Amino acid sequence: MHKIDDKLAKVTARIHQAAAAAGRDPQSVQLIAVSKTQPPEAIARAYAWGQRLFGENYLQEALDKLIALQQLEELEWHFIGPIQSNKTRPIAEHFQWVHSVDRLKIAQRLNEQRPSHLPPLNICVQVNIDDETTKSGVSLAELPTLIAAIAPLTHLTLRGLMAIPAATDDPGQQRSAFAKLRGALEVLNLQGYRLDTLSMGMSGDMESAIAEGATFVRVGTDVFGARS
Ligand SMILES: *Cc1c(COP(=O)(O)O)cnc(C)c1O
Repeated sequence: MHKIDDKLAKVTARIHQAAAAAGRDPQSVQLIAVSKTQPPEAIARAYAWGQRLFGENYLQEALDKLIALQQLEELEWHFIGPIQSNKTRPIAEHFQWVHSVDRLKIAQRLNEQRPSHLPPLNICVQVNIDDETTKSGVSLAELPTLIAAIAPLTHLTLRGLMAIPAATDDPGQQRSAFAKLRGALEVLNLQGYRLDTLSMGMSGDMESAIAEGATFVRVGTDVFGARS
């Protein structure tokens, strides 16, 4: 068996186990294979195995791969990296999801630049859940204002929240960070929003994220191997 096939099978089994342990339907957690720095051949291999959702962080690298793989049907591209405001157009044109919206200007540009023949772009707002100065993301305090401003944009569909908590091996700390994001989503939904997406969990903490309600896990290393 090819090593990517083997890794995908293992990650999928972990997702199913974690969902079962949390009393959740395994189908309610989708795997995004994070393919940053990986060549198109690795993505094609994962595709042949049956993987359809891929996450990319760097725009130019992503566009090269989108072109290389454009003959593959049903690929779903998720942009998960930091966004510069002068680079929004190709994101609006080529991706189905953006997980890393953390300021209104970016959302407004994506909304203006989303081609009208395409369905609305699915958006998650990235939250800086541990208030780390080095990380992108809106603070929990500023989240409600940003959500209120993005929700009316008609070429976007506001789907939910994304976070990258501070790295830790302690499952208790992992869960409490993910629980904060889930809590923020619940509060917003009590206010009348209909957000259905929690994008949280990576190779080292996906089980904790699934226990706290993740609907997308974004996994790179454990799908493709270590990045060079
Ligand atoms: C790289 C990356 C991932 C995947 O991380 P791994 O630890 O390799 O699984 C997930 N989310 C984001 C935003 C990333 O940049």
